[in-house]
Amino acid sequence: MLNVTAIETFYGPSQALFGVDLSVRAGEMMALMGRNGMGKTTTIRSIFGLTPARSGSITFESQDLRRLPSYRIAQAGLGLVPEGRRCFPNLSVRENLVVTARPGYWSLARVEKLFPRLAERRTQMARTLSGGEQQMLAIGRALMTNPRLLVLDEATEGLAPVIRQEIWAAIRELKTQGQSTLIVDKSLAELLPVADRCTILEKGRTVWTGEPAALDDGLRDRYLGV
Ligand code: ATP
Repeated sequence: MLNVTAIETFYGPSQALFGVDLSVRAGEMMALMGRNGMGKTTTIRSIFGLTPARSGSITFESQDLRRLPSYRIAQAGLGLVPEGRRCFPNLSVRENLVVTARPGYWSLARVEKLFPRLAERRTQMARTLSGGEQQMLAIGRALMTNPRLLVLDEATEGLAPVIRQEIWAAIRELKTQGQSTLIVDKSLAELLPVADRCTILEKGRTVWTGEPAALDDGLRDRYLGV
């Protein structure tokens, strides 16, 4: 579905990616892993054209994403939940959900079932939600666009344990639904059981791709610092 091959990406003169390879198959939950600063967010920004790759190729269902502006990449069927969640603060929860909606499996009713807190707070302004609720809203909003590939960058970072568990429960539900997903998260205890495959980045390069069961202690020590 998504094929990223040998991309190199720069911030001004400073090179962040030196050859990232990554693929996501239809219906798969793919984990993108690596320690802080190894290039996970930059890879995602490159896929969405936010920090365009300078070389290499990025194709999604055989479309060349490197040729498309970011808004066309979203229209092509990719949905992003960026690090640091972005909702419209002065719209209500419901308005946030419907404003970018596109028809498909994910409807307001299904998103509110996935995140009952959003149903309870549907008329509240987004800015009055807790951080965890805003993250749920960001995920719900991305789902409402019915993306063929959902991309979650640090979906549970910095949230209270109860909320994190609710978000992981929703992610497991997405997997049951066969939602194709690319996910970055530091919590390996939750991430590995839901991942079909993992790719590890080290200093802006892909160093390993495989199934979670093949991720032995040596690899964890070397690349994940656990
Ligand atoms: P984290 O888990 O901390 O978010 P990450 O794996 O997502 O890390 P990136 O944020 O992609 O890593 O960073 C990769 C490299 O690019 C790092 O060396 C980082 O310092 C650098 N970098 C990231 N954003 C910028 C920027 N806006 N300008 C310059 N360099 C940047």
